[in-house]
Amino acid sequence: IYILALESSCDETAASINKNGLEVLANVVSSQVDLHKKFGGVVPEIASRKHLELLLPVIDQALAEAGLKFEDLDAVAATYGPGLVGGLLVTLTAAKTISLALDIPLIGVNHIVGHIYANFIANPKIKKPLICLTISGGHSNLLYFENLRGYKILGKTIDDAAGEAFDKISRFLGLGYPGGPEIEKAALRGDPESIDFPRADLGNSYNFSFSGLKTAVMNYVNNEDQRGNRIDKNDLAASFQAAVVDSLVANLIKAVENYEVQSVVLSGGVAANQRLRKVISKKLKSFNLDFYYPPLELCTDNAAMIGAVAYYQYLEKDFAPLSLSADPSLKL
Ligand code: ATP
Ligand code: MG
Ligand code: FE
Repeated sequence: IYILALESSCDETAASINKNGLEVLANVVSSQVDLHKKFGGVVPEIASRKHLELLLPVIDQALAEAGLKFEDLDAVAATYGPGLVGGLLVTLTAAKTISLALDIPLIGVNHIVGHIYANFIANPKIKKPLICLTISGGHSNLLYFENLRGYKILGKTIDDAAGEAFDKISRFLGLGYPGGPEIEKAALRGDPESIDFPRADLGNSYNFSFSGLKTAVMNYVNNEDQRGNRIDKNDLAASFQAAVVDSLVANLIKAVENYEVQSVVLSGGVAANQRLRKVISKKLKSFNLDFYYPPLELCTDNAAMIGAVAYYQYLEKDFAPLSLSADPSLKL
């Protein structure tokens, strides 16, 4: 089964071809990061126009890399949410057109489920049940997976997403966009224990909160400014990153203690964070568990992860009508 998958929910224009779900024959990603950098974040209007321009070449490249023609495809999939509506419409419309022209099924995929499935592409043999921490630019969720197709949401953020916190603090410090990699780079030169930022504790839940931390960082900088003290951005970045990581890890470990699981997996752009991976590895040493995270290129937005989910929907005949609309705030 060959599935062409398309993804353009944010600032990556991507097309992939997967064979039987997890075998990736082509995974083409055209990132617009440089285009949005000077604005300090993604500008939706610019993004959707760029998606329109890039999508067809990206699809052609994916087919060429896979050595396939349109006629070889068994289904076409597209992210239909969550994300920026303009971008979602570009790939969804393209997917509908391909579905109609080739008379093959259309499959609508949830972007966040895609982020999770990136793990199964990299490691098809992950043992279940598992706990998945999925942390991206717009979402933060802690999930319990009984099997591949059934999950329970244990916790989510009550305000900012983890990646959003990185992006906002990076912009505030003038470190650039996207914020995660910039903060991580600065943090390497700083002391994570130099400033004691708060770790949100939401009591008896698995929920996350990052807005208090964001305010604490801003207050710290403003106070030091007023006192005429010089601020070491590296120390600040390191201390901020340590606080985010600690809050994420605290909930994850709590879940591992309360649920019988075989593995822990990370997904989403923030899963690229080295400190997070290191701290989790260390904390999990006392549990008899496998720990996985996707390779860098599968952590951030790509189409192969969408194609992986689409295959399982294909097997379940979970096809979408041509009237499927984009849903910018689609829930898990
Ligand atoms: P969503 O998936 O929620 O719709 P998105 O697609 O924009 O949002 P991703 O592409 O999965 O999110 O991830 C991008 C986010 O990951 C950004 O917020 C970015 O700052 C963050 N990120 C990327 N690399 C790192 C890193 N090394 N450390 C921390 N955060 C990172
Ligand atoms: Mg992105
Ligand atoms: Fe994403």
